[in-house]
Amino acid sequence: MSEYGLRSEIRVPNLILFGSNIIEELGDLSKKFGNRGVLIYGGSSLKNSGNHDRINRILKKNALSIEEISGISHDPDNELVESITKEIQNLNPDFIIGAGGGSVIDVAKAASIIATNGGTVGDYWKGKSFTKPSIPFIAIATTSGTGSEVTKNAVITGKGAYFKKSIRSDFMIPNIALVDPTLTLSVPPDITAETGLDALIQNLEAYTSKNAGPITDTLAKKGIELSGRYLLRAVQRSDDLEAREGLSLSSLYGGITLLNAGLGLAHALSHPLGIRFGIPHGKACALTMAKVIQYNYSARNEKYEEIGMLLGGIKDPSVAFTQLTDSLGISTKLSSYGVKEDDIPLIVEESKGGSRRYNPIDHDDATVAKLLRELL
Ligand code: NAD
Repeated sequence: MSEYGLRSEIRVPNLILFGSNIIEELGDLSKKFGNRGVLIYGGSSLKNSGNHDRINRILKKNALSIEEISGISHDPDNELVESITKEIQNLNPDFIIGAGGGSVIDVAKAASIIATNGGTVGDYWKGKSFTKPSIPFIAIATTSGTGSEVTKNAVITGKGAYFKKSIRSDFMIPNIALVDPTLTLSVPPDITAETGLDALIQNLEAYTSKNAGPITDTLAKKGIELSGRYLLRAVQRSDDLEAREGLSLSSLYGGITLLNAGLGLAHALSHPLGIRFGIPHGKACALTMAKVIQYNYSARNEKYEEIGMLLGGIKDPSVAFTQLTDSLGISTKLSSYGVKEDDIPLIVEESKGGSRRYNPIDHDDATVAKLLRELL
């Protein structure tokens, strides 16, 4: 069997809308679900960027009645999800719009489904299944990174604890994903770099995943190429719309490919690194990526060579990736984020499960610990 005959699965929202200024269609799209909606967003960044006014104008023009819930910042926890769930249950809307980065979309996605199924985040962490569809949910991405607008999971932090864990269900795939690159023009350079690295690494790990297939490969490869071409450009010139469009598309492809092909070791390690050392998600993924590539290389040498060429015009993908992080001014030395040798056993322990199973090479804990020690 050739590589084209490999099993490949694709699950996506009912409708994905991509394009600059596509947000103008939000009113007509929302009306299909009813007249009463809830808009969930983070807070100041949606307001300061002008995106809040823009969304409100479109919804008002369509005579929709909208309540707002805001106040979500990074690494949202289970208590926040549960309090927003109660607000939603009291409001009983026809539809919910979540507009923001991955943090906001994940909270809105989680609250929209717990509102119809009942229970707590903890119940679903422990394995309870969702049996009913979510309140109709429209996801609007305002960062180019996580692809959460198309995925079936929400990453939630344990209140007062050092862990992040997904809840997931096919019922959580948003009904509509709206990706409008103009909404990302306001993202500052540091967040553009961190979120853009997440998009790149999602495509990269999906392309080399054990579960990769021809459909996801096509999207992932293009996603890597787009990040390689446009990430630095968008960081250097935030108003470069072509670069924003390329990055937004890469992020969308990353979401679709992670949902359908899975990820790998760099993503698995990003959760303990992010939550224990306060490192933003995309940057936490980038810290170990070059080393993980070196470790995995023999299992996917042809694909990795392609990645090297797409990112830096050279065959060595770990050098190409490091050149990119260097040009973005991102240190990949773990000690510069406060990680010490003594922390390594815990990081290894907390990286278990999830994405590690899709890494192209099987690996034991001792190997992961060695890899981390080499990055100190
Ligand atoms: P984020 O949502 O935390 O946002 C980062 C920052 O960007 C925030 O300060 C926010 O206010 C700001 N911001 C957002 N949009 C902006 C805009 N248009 N202009 C200016 N500032 C803006 O970061 P993220 O990287 O998008 O999301 C990270 C979260 O997503 C993590 O919790 C991660 O675990 C999760 N995640 C989820 C999935 C999934 O499939 N569900 C996948 C990957 C990551």
